[in-house]
Amino acid sequence: MLSTQSTSQNWQQQLARAFTDITELCQFLNLNPKDLPVSQQASEKFSLRVPRSYANRIKKNDPKDPLLLQILPISHELLSDIHYNNDPVGDLNAIAGRGIIHKYHGRALLINTGSCAINCRYCFRKEFPYAEQHLRRDAQSSALDYLQKHPSISEIILSGGDPLILNDARLKQLFSALKKIKHLKRIRIHSRVPIVLPERITPELISLLNQTDKKIIIVLHCNHPNEIDHSVQTITKQFIQNEYTVLNQSVLLRNINNSVETLAQLSETLFEANIQPYYLHLLDKVTGTQHFNVPKEEAIRLVNALRNILPGYLVPQLVQEQPGKPAKTVINLQSTPESE
Ligand code: SF4
Repeated sequence: MLSTQSTSQNWQQQLARAFTDITELCQFLNLNPKDLPVSQQASEKFSLRVPRSYANRIKKNDPKDPLLLQILPISHELLSDIHYNNDPVGDLNAIAGRGIIHKYHGRALLINTGSCAINCRYCFRKEFPYAEQHLRRDAQSSALDYLQKHPSISEIILSGGDPLILNDARLKQLFSALKKIKHLKRIRIHSRVPIVLPERITPELISLLNQTDKKIIIVLHCNHPNEIDHSVQTITKQFIQNEYTVLNQSVLLRNINNSVETLAQLSETLFEANIQPYYLHLLDKVTGTQHFNVPKEEAIRLVNALRNILPGYLVPQLVQEQPGKPAKTVINLQSTPESE
């Protein structure tokens, strides 16, 4: 086993070596940027960031690779549309204090960081004002006071950005603070890191997570079966061995996973890796993501077709997050003429 210092350096070095330059990424993938609708301007607005372990899973010479399409800045992102805005899920109206969003009964969400290991072009929080709103270490006490004063909150969701991008010292400090809140039963970690930067899941991180007295739930964010390779399977096996609940949520994305075959394969691959398919989200309509949108009617047809070929436990719930609603909206699968 590697020492604490070397494993920690390994993932941080991997992160530092992530692709941030379009030309360099295209060279690595044997693609000519001139043949693609790449946009430097889009990358300046929301930077390109792709860890090498994820880039290795992108097929070379394939401009339509579904992993590439999730991370490549393109000119379509600069288009505006009145149905798209900067806060599509109403996060700003649910801010209960710096770094804390309290939207749903019994659960609150901590915005721990604005950083991620990868920058997904469809990200619903890409315009979130992290600089003013993320949970700075020196402002943590007021968020924790809020949690102490709300005994109805039994579950805390660590989100961001990506909470697993925080270093071990910061996570340790956060977890020990949460341990003092006795009415919290569960810590739910929403993260794409185990998928895109599996090197981050070190023995030290697992041991740190195991020091909590709360139940751990890891909600992964995987959109395509090609995102799961042997390294991801090894990580999720460790999660299960440590008795974490491991769920996945995907976003339904045009040209990436909007086919019955891909969605079925995604569910099968997730389950093979001990991950329970949980939610399939309609796109949150953040500005500049119109090209990813799959209309609700098409989504319903896809999920109904999935139900015909998969056992029920492999069919994720089709959901949509609507601002101001007390819970995610589960889409009624009977609501198109074709499905009746
Ligand atoms: S990892 Fe999640 S929060 Fe980060 S850019 Fe991707 S979708 Fe957004």
